Amino acid sequence: MNYLLKPVDALRSPRSPTLEEALNELSLILRDWGVRALHESSGVVVEEDAARLEALRLLGVRLAPVSLGGAEAVVEVDELDPYWDLNPRPGRVYQGALDLLTGEWPTPLVKLRSLSRSGIRVWAKLESFNPFSWSVKDRVGWALATGYIMEEGRPPSLVYEATSTNTGMALAGMAAIYGFKLKAFIPASIQRASDTLLAAMGAEVVRLPYSLTVESLDLVRREAERDGAVNLDQFNNDRNLMAHIRYTAREIDYQARMAGLRLKGIIGGIGTSGHMAAIGFYHKNRSRGEVGIYCVQPAPGEKIPGIRRVETGMKWIGLARPDRVIDVTRREAIDAVLAIARREGLLIGLSSGAATAGFIKLLEEGVFGEGDYIIVYPDNGLKYVEQIKAHLEGGRGGGLHDQG
Ligand code: PLP
Repeated sequence: MNYLLKPVDALRSPRSPTLEEALNELSLILRDWGVRALHESSGVVVEEDAARLEALRLLGVRLAPVSLGGAEAVVEVDELDPYWDLNPRPGRVYQGALDLLTGEWPTPLVKLRSLSRSGIRVWAKLESFNPFSWSVKDRVGWALATGYIMEEGRPPSLVYEATSTNTGMALAGMAAIYGFKLKAFIPASIQRASDTLLAAMGAEVVRLPYSLTVESLDLVRREAERDGAVNLDQFNNDRNLMAHIRYTAREIDYQARMAGLRLKGIIGGIGTSGHMAAIGFYHKNRSRGEVGIYCVQPAPGEKIPGIRRVETGMKWIGLARPDRVIDVTRREAIDAVLAIARREGLLIGLSSGAATAGFIKLLEEGVFGEGDYIIVYPDNGLKYVEQIKAHLEGGRGGGLHDQG
């Protein structure tokens, strides 16, 4: 053997590669599921290997292969302990809420018996099992806050963030743990319950007269500058994407292997595009194009909390390389929420309902062949009682505050 395995954390780079360089390297590693051994001396890798080391960090493997000289070694990723940190603690006992968050990953992957049929098995990844926002956004709040702390050597004292609720709650959790203050800017169109949820967690809440969160980014950035606050900015901060590559996407890989799935497609909604871009990037490369990526957006003029249309602009969507982008109306999304609640006993959120409705449309079109399909469920239905109530009562499916 002409290589040695060393902990990734024991290796350093002589320079910081760009994210694009690291993603290029990572796409090769994922496609080959193999990596060329790094060249280093005294724990510092050579300049040419800086991006490869960064790619291994991004992927989250524990070990890196280091060359001992001689012929070039290509090492299978399985040798690098790729899923080392994806194990809930024995007995599920945790030394605090932060430990609970990261220690419970992977979030559950659950077969949806009502949607599965012969040859096609459908699975839901339940992001509501995250403790702070009961949503996929705990990963982002955690990555943004801990990333800032790592870079600056201390927590921020005041954070301003534009959010459609979930990132706000996730950051409120981080604020409680790290002792900072949070001002959450939410659009007027979001359900009323969000004010109470965010305030209960200690955040100051500001309603802005917009219908999409993304429309308030400039204003929030300016206010943060004026008040000396930190704007972590989930819409543009690459740590959003990076957290989903390292965890959400790698978890799906791990779970698919554990369950022996023949993964053929992954379906999910898009807001910042963080989670579906990461999942698309990871699984398109890993499967060499075998896995289809399907993104769901609200139909023109429709409002579905958490997701929006591609043309409203999202930083990472190009990495997702979606095979299809499917339009779903709010009514279709809520109908799917009710169908899943009544057939599976799981009350999912509106964007999860949208992803389910998108999946059903493609299924009915005959797009899917035999194999396993995963729908990402970003959160559960508890935040959306207002919309569900209006729908059940035969209204427009809107909350009292909703602009429609
Ligand atoms: N679904 C819900 C409920 C959300 O809150 C969000 C984002 O805020 C999304 C979906 C979209 O996720 P992403 O921002 O990773 O595209």
